[in-house]
Amino acid sequence: MQQIAVIGLGRFGTVLAQTLHESGVQVLGIDNSVSRVNDLGDELDRVVALDSTDRSALASQAVDEVDVAVVAIGEAFEAALLTTVILKKMGVAKVICRAQTPYHAEIFKQVGADEVIQPEVQAGSHLARRLAHPKIDDFVTLSEGFAIIEIRTPAQFVGKALKDLALRTTYDVNVVAVRPKTVVQDGDGERREVAGAIAIPRPSDMLTADDVLVVIGSEESLARLPKE
Ligand code: ATP
Repeated sequence: MQQIAVIGLGRFGTVLAQTLHESGVQVLGIDNSVSRVNDLGDELDRVVALDSTDRSALASQAVDEVDVAVVAIGEAFEAALLTTVILKKMGVAKVICRAQTPYHAEIFKQVGADEVIQPEVQAGSHLARRLAHPKIDDFVTLSEGFAIIEIRTPAQFVGKALKDLALRTTYDVNVVAVRPKTVVQDGDGERREVAGAIAIPRPSDMLTADDVLVVIGSEESLARLPKE
């Protein structure tokens, strides 16, 4: 089973550790605040209070054996930096650092971080793209300029087969999957939409207004899709 250490259990580190745990990953949570450790004691596989800038303390918890360590310390940049250097020296296979500024991100990379994330920047750009393209339900950036998006079937595509739409020729995009949205009624009588099972579309499949299309292409091509 994959083992991941989350170092720094603030809001970000806590959600990360809890979600990993819920996903079946074995999580080692570390924080130098005893109260934070106590708060999470029952929720993770193992939570320990230690100062992550203390190499022998980390070694005593076999942190060198984890598959991935995430340095989620936010404000205390010096401590996060030193922790990163120690983890790499201990031989941790993959160290992911959370940076608060692009300058910090660069320094984490310089000292050997395998990956650096900036949650505020990523969340901001994700929200901006969703707001700028209200018809897009969700998207994943694959590499600079390429993405997979989820989009409601545009009205002019409804009732047509994928092969007749010739999306590859017309828009330079590919539909990689389709999933129907269905409306369910919960116990309080409230109606809400849920995503149905994802399916790989056949060229002859007719699209309906309830279908959500999973489309891959360059951001430029995706932006040309009908947005009515
Ligand atoms: P967040 O921004 O995720 O909400 P926060 O603002 O509560 O976090 P930060 O200062 O960003 O707090 O630190 C995140 C966590 O890292 C805190 O719980 C803090 O106790 C912990 N931390 C800071 N320095 C160390 C250290 N040297 N060793 C272990 N944990 C540390």
